Amino acid sequence: MKVTFLGTGTSQGIPIIGSKHPVCLSENPKDKRLRVSILIEWDDYTYVVDCGPDFRQQMIRVNCERMDGIVFTHEHADHTAGLDDIRPFFFRQGDIPIYAHKRVLGELEHRFGYIFETENKYPGAPSVVCNEIKNEPFKLGNLEVIPIDGMHYNLQVFGFRFGNFAYLTDMKTIADKELKKLKGLEVLVVNALRIDPHPSHYNLEEALDLIKKLKPKRAFLTHISHLLGFHDDVQQSLPDGVFLAYDNLTITIE
Ligand SMILES: [Zn+2]
Ligand SMILES: [Zn+2]
Repeated sequence: MKVTFLGTGTSQGIPIIGSKHPVCLSENPKDKRLRVSILIEWDDYTYVVDCGPDFRQQMIRVNCERMDGIVFTHEHADHTAGLDDIRPFFFRQGDIPIYAHKRVLGELEHRFGYIFETENKYPGAPSVVCNEIKNEPFKLGNLEVIPIDGMHYNLQVFGFRFGNFAYLTDMKTIADKELKKLKGLEVLVVNALRIDPHPSHYNLEEALDLIKKLKPKRAFLTHISHLLGFHDDVQQSLPDGVFLAYDNLTITIE
C-alpha cells in the first residue's frame, strides 16, 4: 500500500494569504502546505481521503489519472470544497463513488446541489454515487476499512484504518473503545495543529500522547498550522519513529 500526502496544512494552508509570519515566508518546500488530504493506492485501486479546495492542484501534482472514490472524514470546507473538481474523473469514468457519514452526505448535497440533481441535470455537472459510512467496517475495492469515530470539538468525525495504516485528522477526543481499533499499526497519521491547545484539534503534546499510547511502528503528524513552527526545527524535537508529514511525501506500508 502506498500513501501520498497531498496536503498537510490546516484550513488556511501555509502560507496564509497576506501573512508575514516567518513560517509563511519560509522558502523550504516542506513549509508549504496545501489543505489536508491523502492519496491511498493498493493493487489497482486509488482513493483519496477528503478533497479540499486544493484538490485540482493536488491531482495534477501527482499526475493522478484515475479515481476509484473519495472518502470523507467530515464536512468542513478544507476537506470538501474541491468536490466540483472530480469532473475530469467523471468525464472519463462516469459517476464517482463517495463515502461519508449520512450527515456529511446531506451537507455535500446542500452545498453542491447541482452534483446531486437527478432531473434536468445541467450538462457538464459531475455525478456521484453516495455510500453512507456507519461506524462499522465497509469495503473499498478488495479491502475492508474500519472507521474510527471521534470528536472534533462538538462535531463527529471519522478516521479510517486501512489494513495496518490508520489516518486520523481533525480529532480532539477519541473514546477508548475506538482506540482499541488502532492496535498493532505499522503507520499512524494523526493531526497535530500547533503547540498551544486548541478546542477542536490535538496540539503537538496531545498527538504525541496518543502515539505513545497506541505505539505504531511509525507515526506522521499532519493538519499543521504555521504556529507549529518550521518543519526542520519541529522534526528535530520529535521522538524516534515520529515524523512531521510534508506535502508530496510518499510512504509504503507492507
Ligand atoms: Zn480540517
Ligand atoms: Zn475540521
